[in-house]
Order: sequence, then structure tokens, then C-alpha cells
Amino acid sequence: MEISSLGDRILNGERRALARAITLVESGRADHRAQAAELLAHLSGAGRQSLRIGLSGTPGVGKSTFIESFGMMLIGLGLRVAVLAVDPSSTRSGGSILGDKTRMERLSREKNAFIRPSPSQSHLGGVARRTREAIALCEASGFDVVLIETVGVGQSETVVSEMSDLFLLLLAPAGGDELQGVKRGIMEMADMILVNKADGDLKPTATRTCADYAGALRLLRKRPQDPEGFPKAMTVSAVEEHGLDKAWDEMQVLTKWRRDNGHWDTNRAAQAQYWFEQEVRSALLARLSTPQARFDMERFGAQVSAGQLSPSAAATDMLATLIAE
Ligand code: GDP
Repeated sequence: MEISSLGDRILNGERRALARAITLVESGRADHRAQAAELLAHLSGAGRQSLRIGLSGTPGVGKSTFIESFGMMLIGLGLRVAVLAVDPSSTRSGGSILGDKTRMERLSREKNAFIRPSPSQSHLGGVARRTREAIALCEASGFDVVLIETVGVGQSETVVSEMSDLFLLLLAPAGGDELQGVKRGIMEMADMILVNKADGDLKPTATRTCADYAGALRLLRKRPQDPEGFPKAMTVSAVEEHGLDKAWDEMQVLTKWRRDNGHWDTNRAAQAQYWFEQEVRSALLARLSTPQARFDMERFGAQVSAGQLSPSAAATDMLATLIAE
């Protein structure tokens, strides 16, 4: 199919065209990469923006349930919702499958929803690029909200928060006074902490956990991109669908404030620059792993270990060789 007509169908909001385009950006084939680049260039002129919401939480905290309930609520408000996933694990075994349609049954049947499970992959750098491109495709396709789901493991939160306008951390009620081992760096990324499962027997614990996190958030350094009262901790129940509307209201307060005060644009510009730098880094790393580069590394390495070249002189030569190749 002509790339321009695929682009027009995406602009028209056709979900099949969107799915097909995402398959294209997920492909590693050189000809597909070229077509994907052409498509994204074709679509970038549309200038449509979604609210990109990153959502992280450990397996079992209720991400799928939350996305289903929250997504259905947004659709009820007349919005179109896309769900993407960033899966940090190289294999699917063990953890829950992210963006799994079978776990979001109601949402997956909605014509105003689009759910895309994470592609099987190995390298987080490649996933980041594909997810950013998938977000761009969803935006061009006119989705109002793009939810980007990830599991709280290692680097994936940073990846997701660097492509989101809002970053939500979903937590479970926890007994005792430990803050569930949530790392400070992750707390600092969160715009809102949602303590899920605030229902039934778990409700008092959820309320206490929420108060603990609200206290912990107040101790963090104030960020320029936050109005008074943010980041915020709230309780929700994804199962009973409690607190979701209030959480959405708060997200809108925050988004409006950021838009009005220029932080929305500044943040997206800073993210674009961040990803540019990441792309340069990962392209350089990819160059280092070609057979020729590995051969050169070994050759220079042998000279260093034999005392014929200093490490820094060899590194300079190696880099010059790499650039010349
Ligand atoms: P995920 O692994 O983070 O996607 O978590 P799931 O959405 O699969 O939920 C894990 C378990 O927690 C399931 O048994 C859900 O039914 C349950 N769960 C999710 N949300 C709630 C909630 O709001 N309240 C209660 N009580 N259970 C919930």
C-alpha cells in the first residue's frame, strides 16, 4: 500500500490502518524502517496531540483492571483511548503480559479504544523508539488519551516517564510503615500516586498507605512543573470504580496548569531533545557491536595490553576508526 494512503487512513481514525502502521514501526527490516520514517514524516504535519499518561506498577497491583475501568470511564466521557505497553523483560514468562486484551475485555470491545500489547523484544532502547513512534501514530489517529503501561522494573519507568505528559504510579495497600520499597527516584517521577484496591477489607490499609505516601511526597523537592498540592497521592478502587473520576479531575487540573504556564511545551521539547541524545547514543553503541568494530576493539585492546598504546590513545584511534567506517 502507498504510504500516503495509509497515512490518510490513520488521519481518518481507522484502527486497522493504525494497527498496520504500528506493525511497520515495530519491524526491524531496513525497507520497513524507511517506510515508517516516510509515514511519520507524512503524519507529523497534522499537529495533533493526545494526553500521554504513563502508568507504572508492580505485577498484581491492578494495572490491567485500572486501565480497563479508567479507560471505560474516559470513553463514557466521549474520549478516544489508546493503550500501549513498554515491557522491560526480554521474555514474557513470569511477569504479567502488558497491554493484554484478554485482561481488558470490555475496553477491547469499544470502538473508541485501541489496545496494543507490547511487542516481544530484547532491547529497551529499541522498544523506546517503537513506543514513541506508536504514540505519534496514535496522536495522528486522533486519540485523546494514550495510556502507556509498564511494570516497575529497572529502567522502564524512566523510559515511560520520558515519553509521557503525566506519570502515574499505581500502588497496593501495604501493612506496616515500610513504603513498599518504592525507590526515591521513582517517587520523584510520579505526578500522582494512586493507591489501588481501596475497597472492602483493604480500604483502611489503603487510606493509611495513601497518607504515608502523601507525607513522603511532601518531603520531596518542589518541582517547577507542579502547581500547589502536586504531586498528589489518592486512593482508588479499579474494581469498584471508585475515585477514578476524581483522579481524572486532578489530572486535568495538573494538565491545564502546565499548559497555561508553558510547562507542557517545555516538557515535550525537553523530551524530544532527550530522545535525540538517546538515539545518538544507541546508534553509536550499535556501531560498536558490528563484527568489524569488535575486530577493531580486539586489535586495539591487544595493543593496549601489550603496552604498545595507552588506553586513551587507543580509544581515540578506535573512535576515529569507528567514525570512518
Ligand atoms: P496487574 O498485574 O498490575 O495488571 O494487575 P491486575 O489488574 O491483573 O490485578 C491483579 C489482581 O488484583 C486481580 O486479581 C484483580 O482482580 C485484583 N484487583 C485489581 N484492582 C483491584 C481493586 O481495585 N480492588 C481489589 N480488591 N482488587 C483488585
